[in-house]
Amino acid sequence: MQRTRASDAHHFDLSVTKRNRSKEEIILLMLCALSIPSILPFGIIRLFQANWMLATVDLAIVAGMIAIFVFVWRTGRVQNASLIVTVFYSAGMLAAIYLKGAAIVYWVYPTMIAAFFMLKANHALLINTFSLSILLLILSRQMTLFDLSSIAVTLVLINLFSYIFSYRTSIQHNELNQQAERDFLTGVGNRRALDRALEAFSDAESCNLESCLLLLDLDHFKKINDQFGHAAGDQVLTKLCDVIRTRLRVTDGIFRYGGEEFVVIAVGTDLSTASALAEELRIKIASASLHADLPVTVSIGVAKITPSETASSWFQRADAMLYEAKQSGRNTVRVASDS
Ligand code: GH3
Ligand code: MG
Ligand code: MG
Repeated sequence: MQRTRASDAHHFDLSVTKRNRSKEEIILLMLCALSIPSILPFGIIRLFQANWMLATVDLAIVAGMIAIFVFVWRTGRVQNASLIVTVFYSAGMLAAIYLKGAAIVYWVYPTMIAAFFMLKANHALLINTFSLSILLLILSRQMTLFDLSSIAVTLVLINLFSYIFSYRTSIQHNELNQQAERDFLTGVGNRRALDRALEAFSDAESCNLESCLLLLDLDHFKKINDQFGHAAGDQVLTKLCDVIRTRLRVTDGIFRYGGEEFVVIAVGTDLSTASALAEELRIKIASASLHADLPVTVSIGVAKITPSETASSWFQRADAMLYEAKQSGRNTVRVASDS
């Protein structure tokens, strides 16, 4: 076995060089950009009509949207910007209706739906309910009770449907996210989940927390596949994860890093406790008879994160220890010295 693991293509380079825009960011940018073709022409027409008040409202909305567009484009900070855009849109719409009257009440419908695109369902509903109360107050001076009720009922329905749709979508989104981070064979976190877990250690604050990484690799696993078939190998992997899981705390993470390699992140654990945990896991696995005819053992490399190192270097130190464990005969734990 020739493993120069530290130089393998196992990298957790967490430095962000080019930022990918999130879906939320793109939706927000699109909504801001949309205000230009949809509101600017009206602002210009009002200017020509010398309707200064309405022109000011329309142009102020457009200017505000452009400012938010630039802010989000440059910073990628979506959360506060989404709230500001929604409040801004809603206030602009109410001001326009106050000035122009019931004739432009149709603008309320897309505005309220847009809130659900930008905010969490609860927040959108809260802002829209508040806007709706003000709207009814404004319109009560100029509409019959019957017409007012029609507007109120249709707007309540629009909000209800949007709320249900948004809520359902967010539940599905969470479910998909969870599935996307599970290894389908063993049910533990997959490589993607591991990357995300390690990302949490990339800022200095969380590095102050004592945490250890255990890298486990099954010994001579290929033999099981070769002699008993891939299905038997799969069964061993599943049982192995069951054994590891019974020993871990809820705060610890277990991930399948690759084929028959697993990572345990023991959060808030010092090196001697992590070494004892690794040793305990090694013994438990060896004595669990994971396969009826062949002994199944693991080699484990352990490293504690140091305050200044990257996730990648942390992982590589554990990997070097795993390599040592393999070299010294397998079914062994090796621990990186506390530097
Ligand atoms: P070592 O002690 O040096 O780690 O030996 P090894 O045989 O465990 O290591 P090697 O890297 O040579 O082989 C790993 C094997 O793991 C080869 C591959 O067929 C098997 N494997 C990887 N993923 C899966 C899987 O999902 N299911 C099964 N059944 N086998 C897998
Ligand atoms: Mg391996
Ligand atoms: Mg192996």
